[in-house]
Amino acid sequence: MNQHPYRTRLAAACAAATGLLLAACTSPSSMEPPQVDVPTPLPAGIVFDADVTASVPDDSCDPLSSYSPGTVTAEQARATLDNPDVVSIGVSQSTNLMGYADPVTNKLTGFDIDIATAVVQALMGDATKVKWVPMTSGERESALNEDRVDMVVRTMSITCDRWEKIEFSTEYYKAGQRLLVTKDAGIESVTDLTADHHVCTGETSTSGGNIAAVNDQVKQVTVPDFNDCLVLLQQGTVDAISTDDTILAGMAAQDPTLVIVGETFSVESYGIGFQKDNTDLARFVNGALEDIAAGPTWQAAYDEWLKVPLGGAEAADRTVQYRD
Ligand code: GLU
Repeated sequence: MNQHPYRTRLAAACAAATGLLLAACTSPSSMEPPQVDVPTPLPAGIVFDADVTASVPDDSCDPLSSYSPGTVTAEQARATLDNPDVVSIGVSQSTNLMGYADPVTNKLTGFDIDIATAVVQALMGDATKVKWVPMTSGERESALNEDRVDMVVRTMSITCDRWEKIEFSTEYYKAGQRLLVTKDAGIESVTDLTADHHVCTGETSTSGGNIAAVNDQVKQVTVPDFNDCLVLLQQGTVDAISTDDTILAGMAAQDPTLVIVGETFSVESYGIGFQKDNTDLARFVNGALEDIAAGPTWQAAYDEWLKVPLGGAEAADRTVQYRD
């Protein structure tokens, strides 16, 4: 039987289309990537099963007491700088919400940056007279001791141990340590973590000791820069991250599959760090911090960066205490 030419063409077109469809249907399996053994990329300096000593709250040195502002002028404080025309400040450039290089504007942003900028304005009379020096948390003390920066404003907790090596301002923010996990992890607090879990922290930070104090079962994984913990959690190498709530809030804002859980289990009092014996700079900055906290700058910085990510609560009052 003769087929109608139109029908013949239609049948050919259908066959071709079916072929394409079949090809499309069968292609995913044939396009699967070859099975090769690629090791999970890990950050340099990672330590699995780090041996961390539990920290005990150490108030033996009265850590929150700094030097009273007294009569130190901006000019006297500037004379202590390496270069009296530019103050160099150690910061983070990778801690979302605190000290973070915004890839769109290429500017440093965050709560620490706003506080530091207000200090620069008070000290230099010009907020642009600053050299920002990005660093990890582990570099903060050495950067001061080796004279690479005049001060450090980088989520740095005031502790007696650190007072031995550097000077601190008064507390400019009261943070606390919590836990970050994936939403489907079924982990609700740091005490849920067992010996089968891995929790990530930054080495040299106060975080590891705080975890060990409340949970001596869980395995600790440390990295030189706590920001690397985020990738380790996303790739499933660790089950949780634990550090200051400010830092965890920045990670949770970057990845909506993550959630902060459990109560705060430490007090992290942030101070500005100075080189040992540079008490004139510490005094001047303490006076500046009083003005910054009393004026609109402090609250504006908190409202802009931290208030919503931390659940909308008002910030705890900072403690202002002087030793002389
Ligand atoms: N605030 C804590 C500390 O200074 C943890 C955060 C950090 O390491 O920067 O150790």
